Amino acid sequence: MTMNPEVRRIAEAIRARQRFVLSSHARPDGDSIGSQLALAYALRDMGKHADVVNADPAPPPIMQFPGVPDIRIAPQVEGAYDAAIIMECGDLSRTGVSGLDRYFVVNIDHHQGNTNYGALNWFDATAAACGEMVFDLVGALDVPLTAAIATHVYLAILTDTGSFHYSSISPRTFDICKACLEAGVDPVLVARNVYDSNNMGRLKLFGSVLSAMQIDATGRIAIVYLDHEMARAAGGTYEDTEGLINLPLTVKEIQAVVFFKQIEGESYRVSMRSKGEIDIAAVAKEFGGGGHKNAAGCTAGGGIDTLQKIFVEKIERAIDGRPARHR
Ligand code: 5GP
Ligand code: MN
Repeated sequence: MTMNPEVRRIAEAIRARQRFVLSSHARPDGDSIGSQLALAYALRDMGKHADVVNADPAPPPIMQFPGVPDIRIAPQVEGAYDAAIIMECGDLSRTGVSGLDRYFVVNIDHHQGNTNYGALNWFDATAAACGEMVFDLVGALDVPLTAAIATHVYLAILTDTGSFHYSSISPRTFDICKACLEAGVDPVLVARNVYDSNNMGRLKLFGSVLSAMQIDATGRIAIVYLDHEMARAAGGTYEDTEGLINLPLTVKEIQAVVFFKQIEGESYRVSMRSKGEIDIAAVAKEFGGGGHKNAAGCTAGGGIDTLQKIFVEKIERAIDGRPARHR
């Protein structure tokens, strides 16, 4: 395997150090957790000390994977570490964890717009998941791919590709998954843990949010909305909405989805998804957010009717602006 210079430099920096703290973005997902734990297990296999610290706990289905319940949830990190390895974060503030900037920071990410905030930076927008990058790093460190490491790499890829739906998938993605299966990953068990271990409140909440779904005038954009009152009435929580945004995309005509989640008052988390060449990240960036072409998010404030109108207009423009061969 040809090794790119960033991976080599990061592998050298890791070999030269002993104590690591690993962090990733707030409200972690399968890729952030999988990437962190795959690397944490690899570091421990090398005889190094690795602590994983996040601002928020993993979603309940992800909690079933090895090592996840042991992740430390804290708003700040202190203590003697030789390096902080940050994965999946465009900038350090996305961690929601303070104090990381006091260490030698290694930045490993695949999100467009990464700000190169580390002492060492490795950014690869072609990676379908940050877990693909971690797989390369584990190889560069000459750590054998154990079942625990492989399970987390596979978890990262399965979830970040939307179970192999998104355009970032490459032949490499499947090469890595093949290696993971050969290392002992059970793909049936991973899928069952991730997708078939919901609680009833989550299903009811999906029902309530989807029955209130609106479609734009062109019939191409689904608009979904959730506030605290709706969540309470359905007996679910905001965490239970993980993955809900992808469901409207299963309708053939729907090209994009925008999901408004009330934070408080007139402040909203806005999540967006799109199909194919529709660049939804460009819309998120206009509001100070970011993400990938097909999955992006931001925070926005204002009356919900006005916000919906603004976002729908911008998404319609993104749909009409995509390359003609994809229409
Ligand atoms: P989600 O809709 O699942 O919260 O996020 C979808 C994607 O967009 C994720 O890859 C996430 O990292 C990115 N994203 C979501 N919200 C923000 C944000 O406020 N800022 C940036 N830079 N990226 C975001
Ligand atoms: Mn990711």
